[in-house]
Amino acid sequence: MLRNDTPTQAAFRREYREWVERHLPADLRYLTARPEPASVMPWYRALARKGWIAPHWPREHGGMGADAVTQVIMMEEGARLGTPDLPTQGLNHIGPLLIRLGTPAQRARHLGPILDGDVIWCQGYSEPGAGSDLASLRTRARIDGNELVINGHKIWTTWGQHAQWMFALVRTGAPDSGRNGITFVLVDLATPGITRRPIRTIAGDDEFCEVFLDDVRVPIANVVGEIDGGWKVANTLLNEERVRVGSPQQPLRALERTIAVAQRTGAIGDPVFVDRLAGLAIEVDAIGAAFIEATEAFEAGIDPGQRSSYMKIHSTETVQRLLDLQQEAVGGAAGLPLTGEGLERLDFCGYYLQSRRLSIYGGTNEIQRQILATRVLGLPN
Ligand SMILES: Cc1cc2nc3c(=O)[nH]c(=O)nc-3n(C[C@H](O)[C@H](O)[C@H](O)COP(=O)(O)OP(=O)(O)OC[C@H]3O[C@@H](n4cnc5c(N)ncnc54)[C@H](O)[C@@H]3O)c2cc1C
Repeated sequence: MLRNDTPTQAAFRREYREWVERHLPADLRYLTARPEPASVMPWYRALARKGWIAPHWPREHGGMGADAVTQVIMMEEGARLGTPDLPTQGLNHIGPLLIRLGTPAQRARHLGPILDGDVIWCQGYSEPGAGSDLASLRTRARIDGNELVINGHKIWTTWGQHAQWMFALVRTGAPDSGRNGITFVLVDLATPGITRRPIRTIAGDDEFCEVFLDDVRVPIANVVGEIDGGWKVANTLLNEERVRVGSPQQPLRALERTIAVAQRTGAIGDPVFVDRLAGLAIEVDAIGAAFIEATEAFEAGIDPGQRSSYMKIHSTETVQRLLDLQQEAVGGAAGLPLTGEGLERLDFCGYYLQSRRLSIYGGTNEIQRQILATRVLGLPN
């Protein structure tokens, strides 16, 4: 990064790097796919014990209360050391949402297990007929006494097969009530009536699944916000999700690995290649700066709003461009993993395929462009 560390930041960077170097198991480094819970959760819990699992959560809720620059320092060092992807639905999505909008009882019940790594969460928004057009979702919830009775079908549920809890959007209003008849609810996946079926991705991993809900009874106390008021809650979460997806974490990782690969294959000696790499490195710096600015504004109570759409596009498409470049650096061996330790065992093909999904989840980049066109530029819909 172009920014210089203050002495305090430099000391933290050193402490973080040395600790991660000492404690991160070799078989969790430089992976191109998120490892299964059995191998990654011990690392998650080690970070939790150290107090570093939730840099962006306030201290009063068990987080680090780290400022935006410290968060970026952790991402930079993580990219260098090849730290693995962790399950993020609890840490980045439902945890911060409950801190903002949950009841005291919901916070007391759920925040601790997320921090400790005892519970994995998943997100039940999308349905077979409701992705970009999320407000058309059809999973029904009927009120019966102090319970909701849910029937429907969710899809593309990341890590749904590993999760113990799901935050979901359900229709409590009339079928044609659109965004005014949606409720945001927390569902214990051990409740009778839930079936999960993993879906294999093009990259060969079971990253997500389908979730079928048949007469699933959920206490009304698990509703976040008001009955029929879930659209606003869902969007508060999506805005934060896009700021996180728009962080420099994935771009930094892609940049580090592209440089390492180019050094190994000799592509780094080609001035045209270096020119393109330098251009993307500057983009990564800009993404870091935008993230710091948005995070500081968010902490000051300013809603990221459409800024999160721009950040999501910038970050995800920079990763894709970096991995396009990486494919060129690898040349004819792009379909093969390297063999050996650390960076030497990068699975280029898997990494490239994994990156295609970035512009789809969290709301597709086409939809984010639509939001910017209509709400920022004032163009006709
Ligand atoms: C890896 C991955 C993980 C995911 N994890 C989750 C999860 O955990 N939970 C969850 O709920 N969902 C998840 N999703 C689903 C994701 O949110 C949806 O795939 C996404 O919102 C798009 O919806 P769709 O797949 O139904 O595509 P569609 O909405 O059918 O869109 C198909 C194509 O048409 C384009 N399009 C649609 N409408 C417009 C328009 N008005 N203007 C211009 N272009 C348009 C889209 O951009 C897209 O290219 C995940 C998806 C992926 C790929």
